[in-house]
Amino acid sequence: MKKIFLIFLVFISCNIFSQFDFYGPEPFNDIFNDSFSSSWTPSSLTSIENRKYIVILDAVSQSNIVSLNTTNKELVELITISNINGNTATYGSVLRSVFQIVDENTHFENDPGGGSGTYTPLSGNYKLNPVLHSYYSINSYPLTNALNTTDNGSYYVSQQTNTGYLLVEFVGLSASTQIKAVEQWEYSSSLDTLVENTSWVSKFLTINGTSLEWTSNVSNATNFFIADASDVIDLEIQNGTDFNPNNVTYKSNATASIPSNISAMSNSPIFNISNNIDPYYVDQLGNSTSATTAASSALDEIEITLSDNGSSLRYPKAFYLALRENMLSHEISSSDIYNAELGNRTIEDIYFTNASDDNGVPHPFMVIGSHCLAARPNLLLDVNRPPGATPGVGYAQSEVTRHGKLGQFLAKIPLKDYGLVSTLLDNDLSPFGDLASAYDAIHGSSTVKDEFNYAGTASIGMAVDGVTIYPSYNNNLRHTVEDAEITSSGIHVGGGLELHYHADAHAFNGNGINLYNISDYNSNDHPPVIGISYDGIALFGKHENSFSSMAGSQVSLDEYGGHDHGDGFGYHYHAHTQSAIGITPPNNPFNQHILLVGAWKGNINDIPGFLEVKTSQLNNNTINRYVGVSYLGMGMKSETNSKISIHPNPTNKNITISLNNFSGNIKTEVYDLIGNKLKISNETTISLRDYARGIYILKVIYGERVEEVKVFKQ
Ligand SMILES: [Zn+2]
Ligand SMILES: [Zn+2]
Repeated sequence: MKKIFLIFLVFISCNIFSQFDFYGPEPFNDIFNDSFSSSWTPSSLTSIENRKYIVILDAVSQSNIVSLNTTNKELVELITISNINGNTATYGSVLRSVFQIVDENTHFENDPGGGSGTYTPLSGNYKLNPVLHSYYSINSYPLTNALNTTDNGSYYVSQQTNTGYLLVEFVGLSASTQIKAVEQWEYSSSLDTLVENTSWVSKFLTINGTSLEWTSNVSNATNFFIADASDVIDLEIQNGTDFNPNNVTYKSNATASIPSNISAMSNSPIFNISNNIDPYYVDQLGNSTSATTAASSALDEIEITLSDNGSSLRYPKAFYLALRENMLSHEISSSDIYNAELGNRTIEDIYFTNASDDNGVPHPFMVIGSHCLAARPNLLLDVNRPPGATPGVGYAQSEVTRHGKLGQFLAKIPLKDYGLVSTLLDNDLSPFGDLASAYDAIHGSSTVKDEFNYAGTASIGMAVDGVTIYPSYNNNLRHTVEDAEITSSGIHVGGGLELHYHADAHAFNGNGINLYNISDYNSNDHPPVIGISYDGIALFGKHENSFSSMAGSQVSLDEYGGHDHGDGFGYHYHAHTQSAIGITPPNNPFNQHILLVGAWKGNINDIPGFLEVKTSQLNNNTINRYVGVSYLGMGMKSETNSKISIHPNPTNKNITISLNNFSGNIKTEVYDLIGNKLKISNETTISLRDYARGIYILKVIYGERVEEVKVFKQ
């Protein structure tokens, strides 16, 4: 008996100690300060074109660059090129030096008649927008004529002192050009829109000592060198590459306008969760040390509740705490979403709930209160063929989605191990719909279900930065990259203008500013956790060839994109690459970089409120308990605390079981610590007289419940 016990212990130890590190990727706000190494020699832009990313240098020395101030994004200054190609260059100093050329008509080209309608051609007058802050443009301080940047039309434009943008022309070739501001636009509070400042006279950008100013005297105009920023940092998707394998051309449809009912970020219900949930959970809100302690205690209670019920957490407690910590570390660092405010976390709150259904079966969740935006710039303007936003019309006539707004997500991640499906159709998606059925309903076809198309029609999981993850397929049952619908970060907005991932951009170019990056792998023994799926299955980064000794790198992934290393952690998904061939002509082959395939491997059939992931759940009386709202019979403490009392304990002979408020039959099983069942009894008094001294487990089964109690035999 002793020997078996020892072996059992050793077995458990191996499982615990061979499990890999739980960690998430470095957030964008921290990547800013990481060193950036490049041996960049500026080369002039081939031609001045809409949407090109540029670095602006003085033409004579080519050693000074135009850059945003480190701390104040509205200040623009001249700094040395060593901020890009020197030893002290950082991702922050590089990104603050990159601007995008945006034609004034970029959002207005359209042809609603599909060839005969109104079409607004590009004008050749450009806004210059910092890549970091697409809702800002270069401008001129009214009194000093200094070069600055101002809000060009975000939700908050009406609250700013200086607003609007200049429209510039480039006079000369990109290797030596004057930058001439021909118009100025500014916000009018009376009209609540941007209007032209008709008193503006054309001015030229000039370097005056160390400062950048606008001058109306052309003889003082400085010649600038417009360098191609793609030589420094790779942001643009090239035709024929994995993110546009079918060479889909840029669609010049008008941009869908932002709905007028949007409100300030500070009004988001995500900031008001504490007023809507039971006080018991409020200690977990926010990102303080005490919140972490409360979250840890909540998981302890959940473990007890589940074990009393004969079930368990899917993953170790340490995993959920590591995931929570990383998710709370992403701060908005880019003015790139219409109503986002810099400095807020992308995910405001994470808390663990421990509610039971009306039958007393526990369904604990990790609840994620997310604003659903990436911390970094999204480059939505660059998407070649964004989703159409005008229902019922052909794509040529449709406005398309190039702006994003905040979301209001309360994503529920099941903590309980609901098991795995053995075949695709074991998961019943009929209450929710699936991509294949939705496609068939429109096209009158009958698509064979597979792991790509038997997927949710909206989000199926959430990344660690709080952005939701959609299936690899779009609703035409093609990988989104085949239709060139996503950015170089694998993201886009659909008709609801909320961001979501469709692909893994880690593989795009290694530019270091993606959801996760190769630097995250250093000194770790498994890829980082980068998200979690709504079936409760964790999502990790892809296995990299250069880190081939990592745990699990030799264990192949199944058709759902998951595997189990046999180290006790359990089944989990990985981002990965699959070779694919375009379904539409020219049917080019490409590598599809998958975040989540689509179909769920985790069994979803018993998850209450599955796919309900927004703040509206707080008002849904059948499921709001799972996001922490009080409900009849609630009491996490009364649920987790046993109804059972036993006495005496310790005992040297008999033990008597009593149950509060329960009058039905009970059954008790007696186990030793190794799990041998010693006795079954239907009595409330059980004799332990014949057993050796030590600890025994009583498993008491009554009603729908099973509870375990430790007993000490003296
Ligand atoms: Zn989408
Ligand atoms: Zn793995």
